[in-house]
Amino acid sequence: MKYNSTRDKSVSVTASQAILKGISNEGGLFVPDSFPDVTLAQIEELCAMSYVGRAERIISLFLDGFTAAQCRSAAEAAYIGTFENDSPAPVVKLPGGRYVMELFRGPTCAFKDMALRLLPQLMSRAAENEGKKGETVILVATSGDTGKAALEGFRDADGVRIIVFYPVDGVSAMQKLQMKTQEGGNVGVAAVRGNFDNTQSGVKSIFTDEGIKAALEEKGMSFSSANSINWGRLLPQIVYYFSAYADLVKQKEIAPGDKVNFAVPTGNFGNILAAYYAKIMGLPVGKLICASNKNRVLSDFIETGSYDIGREFYATISPSMDILISSNLERLLYHLLGNDDNALKELMESLKREGKYSVSGDVITCVKELFYGGSCDDTRTREVIKRVYDSEGYLLDTHTAVAMAVTDDYISSTGDNTKTVVVSTASPYKFAGSVYTALTGKTEQDEFTAVSLLSELTGVPVPKPLSELKQKAVRFEQVIGKDEMPAAVIDFISEKRY
Ligand SMILES: *Cc1c(COP(=O)(O)O)cnc(C)c1O
Repeated sequence: MKYNSTRDKSVSVTASQAILKGISNEGGLFVPDSFPDVTLAQIEELCAMSYVGRAERIISLFLDGFTAAQCRSAAEAAYIGTFENDSPAPVVKLPGGRYVMELFRGPTCAFKDMALRLLPQLMSRAAENEGKKGETVILVATSGDTGKAALEGFRDADGVRIIVFYPVDGVSAMQKLQMKTQEGGNVGVAAVRGNFDNTQSGVKSIFTDEGIKAALEEKGMSFSSANSINWGRLLPQIVYYFSAYADLVKQKEIAPGDKVNFAVPTGNFGNILAAYYAKIMGLPVGKLICASNKNRVLSDFIETGSYDIGREFYATISPSMDILISSNLERLLYHLLGNDDNALKELMESLKREGKYSVSGDVITCVKELFYGGSCDDTRTREVIKRVYDSEGYLLDTHTAVAMAVTDDYISSTGDNTKTVVVSTASPYKFAGSVYTALTGKTEQDEFTAVSLLSELTGVPVPKPLSELKQKAVRFEQVIGKDEMPAAVIDFISEKRY
């Protein structure tokens, strides 16, 4: 299996190259040129396996050029000893009959860990396979969950350094402390004055800065990124859909072959795209429920076939879904257009030029058959958190609550009684202030106080990575201006590490 660019099909690279490059030169995203079939018998075999075994099975289907030992050791390094009970994606059943897949049991308490634990392992093996020499320097601009998950994933990885920039006033107190206390000999963190756009444009210009490039080359280093369009971040996400299905079969909640719906709180369209890939590989999936918060650009697209970012941007209590450009939608459209790179390129050019595009009737019919789109504002998000806690004794975070609400809408408008798994993307304690308000109507400005109050109120245990945070030593206090970012990178690559 090779990988093509969505914007130029003649570009064909190996799995290792796709993972190392991240994005194709002309701006397209890498997609597999075919999808492996997984039979029901193979899915049933997963039931007896650990998560590591399941991950090894699924990722090896996409990694031509990787040895079986590389796939095995990558999955072990990613998922052993880093998730609660060594169980990265447990499925719990709520009293009302719905299932929740908990993807927040990792080191940063949000689902980005699922991909960012494995990506560095895939990258180092890809570098081996390609005979790539010298250190890789990962640069990240983060507005929240990605930066910390990337730091944890890459910390002390061989042949890699990682530097993360975040807007000093643009992340929560919890997220800030998570990054300032980051451990590891190959990590760097700096806060940047201004907002996220400022930080992100600073990072973008470093990637193309000739002076820095020369400095890197002199040291035999090269840049890479860890953002959510890298194939090495999508691939790990396909695994947990198979894993959830296998768990339901194993627990006799479903019979092999029964369909299951998945409801996904969606931002950049990576998580739900992985569910679509699992479906086309043969996993018995019914509807994919795509849940947006008030930034409902995706649910409008699914309803109308028109993707239009010319709209107001809202800051919500589910901030990891506050996105107007869902980058990974490009991959879905490419497939639904019959792998037509020219047609896809036209849509993306229209998005750049006019801030919108529309797809044909055929394509939108396909989209609607696969997906149900819906949205939920902050008021309703809080109501759902309270109702689910009061009636089912389960504490949802703000993002997962959006998916729960849209699932309610889907069921009441269709009467579909297929078993549904709601994908939970964050621990309620990661957004403790908002969850506390939802339950009590009171506000608590200090996130750490909110964590204590929430745990006293509900008795739900606080995840260890968050409860231990306050005792950790602060290592990174630097606050810089955007114009100081290049110098910070030069400093960082000049330091002796390890
Ligand atoms: C990143 C994130 C999302 C959105 O996931 P996408 O793959 O971008 O759609 C949802 N919830 C949380 C908590 C996240 O961190």
